[in-house]
Amino acid sequence: MIYTEGELIVCQNCKTELDNIRKENLLTKDELVLLKHPERIMQVNFPIKKDDGSLEIITGFRVQYSFILGPGKGGIRFHQSVDVDEVSELAFGMTLKTSLVDLPFGGAKGGVRINPENYSQKELEKIARGYVREIFDIVGPHKDIPAPDVNTNPQIMAWMLDEYEKIAGQPSPAFITGKPVEQGGSEGRDKSTAMGGFYILEEEYKDKEKSEITVAVQGFGNAGSVMAELLFDAGYRVVAVSDSSGGLYDAEGLDIPELIKYVHGQEKTKKLITYDKYRRINNEELLSLDVDLLIPAALGGVITLKNAPAVQAKMILELANGPIMPVAEPILVDKGIKIIPGILANSGGVIVSYFEWKQNLSGEHWSLEEVNSKLKEKIVGAYRQVKELAEKEGLTYRRASYKIAIKRIIKKAKEKKII
Ligand code: NAD
Repeated sequence: MIYTEGELIVCQNCKTELDNIRKENLLTKDELVLLKHPERIMQVNFPIKKDDGSLEIITGFRVQYSFILGPGKGGIRFHQSVDVDEVSELAFGMTLKTSLVDLPFGGAKGGVRINPENYSQKELEKIARGYVREIFDIVGPHKDIPAPDVNTNPQIMAWMLDEYEKIAGQPSPAFITGKPVEQGGSEGRDKSTAMGGFYILEEEYKDKEKSEITVAVQGFGNAGSVMAELLFDAGYRVVAVSDSSGGLYDAEGLDIPELIKYVHGQEKTKKLITYDKYRRINNEELLSLDVDLLIPAALGGVITLKNAPAVQAKMILELANGPIMPVAEPILVDKGIKIIPGILANSGGVIVSYFEWKQNLSGEHWSLEEVNSKLKEKIVGAYRQVKELAEKEGLTYRRASYKIAIKRIIKKAKEKKII
């Protein structure tokens, strides 16, 4: 946390972005103040009994950055690096994302500071349930609706829903999204983040021969592996992928379905680095490959002041949240690299979460075709709006996205007489 002139600023990256926007006169000083601070930050510390009988205190956070556009919305991640700054930054991103794609949600995010690899399934269930008990008062279908993020999945959402409903004493499927379909989840939610980014790419490259487009994807989880597969199936040349263990490279293109079978097959414990048919590379090498398209789809802050000069990709699609440090972005922009920002590129997840929430509230169940066609319409519509503004005003896609998102929030704040 940072204190300046008696003012508490939780998130340095949020501040840097907002200051840049201020310099370009996109916001007044008062509007800037409104967005600089999260509305609510909750830290929780709760005990779980481990399989060996010992007690451990688990720390988690829920940051509700803004309720101006509606109830909070944002995923929950399980990761050892979770802290209040990171969760606030992600909640700030959610605030802009829901606004950019015009959803009736504010922005929020949750995080539990654990390395899930160190816990059994039984322990993870206790952590999921304990976290919900602690945040119960501030979440709910019309208050703040969580979803999956890094290291959380439909099973964890199902445990969380069950715990919430036990305390609430009534069925409340709209409390959380990203649930298994049998428990009220939406068709297509599992692949929606990548699918949304893929629709943007299809629009970007609509006049290009796909087999000539080389792609490197960092991260081989929910977002990254699905994106790699969608691109492979559509004929793009995915030359590199990586996970936390390292990456694989082949100039002719990798067999993505084979790698998915290897990593996400029956055992679900395999790492890319143990696959021996391709040349091994590390994550730094992957980021600096000479490719048409680089897709960071792992964690935030991976492109830094230090490694940005080595990036050679022509375009970057941010499927992860915040993979490019704000201080590193000017280096990439100066090199002429086009960046599709995460608040647009990975908004497919929250768009389909919104569809799931709507289906839960109305008792409907939409088909996969219906979900995907609505997703495509929404995300491509937002993309075209950003492109048009960027071209008209000579802005980067990130600036144009921020401008659209912030304008919508400020307009609503004025209508509600918050400012
Ligand atoms: P996940 O846990 O399913 O997968 C994460 C992947 O990143 C794994 O393959 C892991 O091995 C890899 N990884 C971790 N550390 C790494 C490192 N240092 N270098 C390279 N790879 C590394 O998570 P996910 O749901 O795919 O989320 C990935 C990113 O996408 C996150 O930034 C998340 O916030 C963002 N995102 C996800 C969703 C969603 O619906 N899942 C929606 C919007 C944004």
